[in-house]
Amino acid sequence: MGNKPTTYHAASNENLFGTSPKVTEALQHTLARLNSYPIPDAAELRAAIAQKLGVGAGEIVIGSGSAELISLLVRAFCGPASAASILSLAPSYPLYRMEAQALQVPFRVVPLTSSYQVDTDALLAKIDATTRLCFLCNPNNPTGTYLPQQELERILRHLPPHVILVVDEAYVEYVTAPDYGDALAFLHQYPNLVVLRTFSKAYGLASLRIGYMVAREELIQQLLQVKQPYNVNQLAQVAALAALNDDGFLHQTLRATLAGKAHLEQALQRLGIQYWPSQGNFLLLDAGIKADVIYGHLLRHGIQARQTEDAYTLRITIGQEEHQSHLIYMLENLLNPTNLCQQHPLLAQVVETGTTLQEASAEEAAGAIERLAAAASTQNDAQGRIALAFARAFAARNQKASQHAGNLYSSTYGMMDMIAAFNVLVNATPLVTFGHRFANHLILSAIADANAVYLLDLGIGSGLQWFHLMEQLAARPQGAPALHLTGIDIPAAEGKPDQRLRETGMRLQQQAERLGIAFTYTCIATKLEDFDLTSLSINPEQALVINSALTLHHIPDQLVTEPDLRDQVLYQIKALRPRVFTLTEPDSEHNKLDYLPRLRESLRHYHTVFDVLDTLLPPDMPERQVIEQEFFGREIINVVSCEGSRRVERHERNEAWQRRLVRTGFRPVQHPDLAPVLAEELQLHSEFSLVPNGAGYTLYWKGTNIIASTAWVADGN
Ligand SMILES: *Cc1c(COP(=O)(O)O)cnc(C)c1O
Repeated sequence: MGNKPTTYHAASNENLFGTSPKVTEALQHTLARLNSYPIPDAAELRAAIAQKLGVGAGEIVIGSGSAELISLLVRAFCGPASAASILSLAPSYPLYRMEAQALQVPFRVVPLTSSYQVDTDALLAKIDATTRLCFLCNPNNPTGTYLPQQELERILRHLPPHVILVVDEAYVEYVTAPDYGDALAFLHQYPNLVVLRTFSKAYGLASLRIGYMVAREELIQQLLQVKQPYNVNQLAQVAALAALNDDGFLHQTLRATLAGKAHLEQALQRLGIQYWPSQGNFLLLDAGIKADVIYGHLLRHGIQARQTEDAYTLRITIGQEEHQSHLIYMLENLLNPTNLCQQHPLLAQVVETGTTLQEASAEEAAGAIERLAAAASTQNDAQGRIALAFARAFAARNQKASQHAGNLYSSTYGMMDMIAAFNVLVNATPLVTFGHRFANHLILSAIADANAVYLLDLGIGSGLQWFHLMEQLAARPQGAPALHLTGIDIPAAEGKPDQRLRETGMRLQQQAERLGIAFTYTCIATKLEDFDLTSLSINPEQALVINSALTLHHIPDQLVTEPDLRDQVLYQIKALRPRVFTLTEPDSEHNKLDYLPRLRESLRHYHTVFDVLDTLLPPDMPERQVIEQEFFGREIINVVSCEGSRRVERHERNEAWQRRLVRTGFRPVQHPDLAPVLAEELQLHSEFSLVPNGAGYTLYWKGTNIIASTAWVADGN
């Protein structure tokens, strides 16, 4: 903890503009009567709220904070004898999970999409016979995003009668979106609806603990059976009544909050920190660097932020202007230059040049890019080489006519150069082989008892992974199963679209013959999103496994297309019910971030990769030039210079992939600790580490995550 006092408590979404003076005044009278019990069930306050909302007083329960009501709901409807489970969203308010865990009620979540929207279909699909309570926070904490009226109604319409929908509207007073789904409007149409509200946020009474729920009387009666009559103290009741009657203070709060939000948003845009449009009195931030770094820095300077369940996002409560200005100054201080840039001035120049592209004329920007390229060419190390790659990317962005968009495999180098470079990457670094080896372990154990195997590889490339798998299969005591491999990859830009794929098949055929494995091969030259995986004819006697390495991030998601094609492919994989689905992806975020935070993120990611290459490969190796400026340089150009559908390098962080897989109905495959085995097989340099990520491992270099490999099965398999 910092030794300076906290001047800006931005962690709990309290009303940082204070409390109504009418409240303090009303409390004076009650202070003289502390010897009396409070009014049971807060009858007077209930009548006032009922009148304001146009509902019956019997449809309201007051709680010691809405937190108490959340706890009572779980106790009333998910009792120990029931087989009930609770459903909610992720990321969302952590108390739902905590209350479920406290009463040992199974708790399941439907992750939000990459833009933090509710996937209504996924939510409805996740409801089963055990689902008793479904908590929806609207607007959602910590994302600030909201469920529109139409979607709320769709959920209510499809809700089975055994499910109670609890809509937590802790921030409803702040909402300005015209299509916001006000749950109260549906109260009399749908019997299983509960609305939670609180006096802790816009009304400024967090310390007194008071909130309320609105629902039909039958539900209220059930809740009252677990509620104590004196659960809300008299000071809180009196204060809430006074607050409810002070519209002037509420409006003042809303005005100050909207102005504060606009002020903070403007600064975040300038600093290149991503935030999501928020309907609450808070913003969720992602600066493209780990949230705990920012969190610690702010704390040391008197600002208490809130970390979330996501390692890169941080939540900040809208506050007084001078506090926010201090926050903005501290963020600027940390990010510009970033930590990385403090160690390496050339990297600071990369960020500065990238920022110039936003602010200066194309001519000025061209000058800055030239200066960057000149400075980069004097330094033949990881920093010099990465700076050169970024200078090329900036030039492409500045010309607004990048030829590299969407054209992944075109090259200024010949095919043989590319193959030689790929071989170096494979043999001298674990960047490619790490995913292969992890996946192959999981595949081997999934097909241990199979006599016939159908292997579907989405993005087969040179098929390298399968040479190793075949050796492992041939070495099994029971011998190798009959193996069918279907390889999918994007069509070649020139010549026959599937020629490369067929050559891969021929080499694999030779390997199979050498090892005496019965082997058949099919190849399909297509973009994954243009193909229906469920149209493949797979014999049910064949054990199916599906693999994808460094491929799925090319598929656009709902940030680019409607419907979400990335989810669609996952749904198809799920429909095929493979024994295992193995996924390897770079652990970086080049999908949901805007240009400046994405620039910072990509610099972190590719600098780490270039540092690996700088350590493991000799500087003058010709193949290294191809790897850096062609393999990775081409990605950098696409990430930095392309927006919308032209950006095809849409990596997502491992935690985002995990949320996506859970949302689309997968769960991680249990496996023994493979880290020591993998480290041995891959002969990992001592600066690498393998960190379990909940579904597999993430490969780290000098403490920075690079690549993650995970294994999944369809839920219910
Ligand atoms: C702050 C908050 C609450 C309020 O809790 P109280 O117990 O009423 O203070 C409830 N739900 C969400 C989502 C919140 O953010």
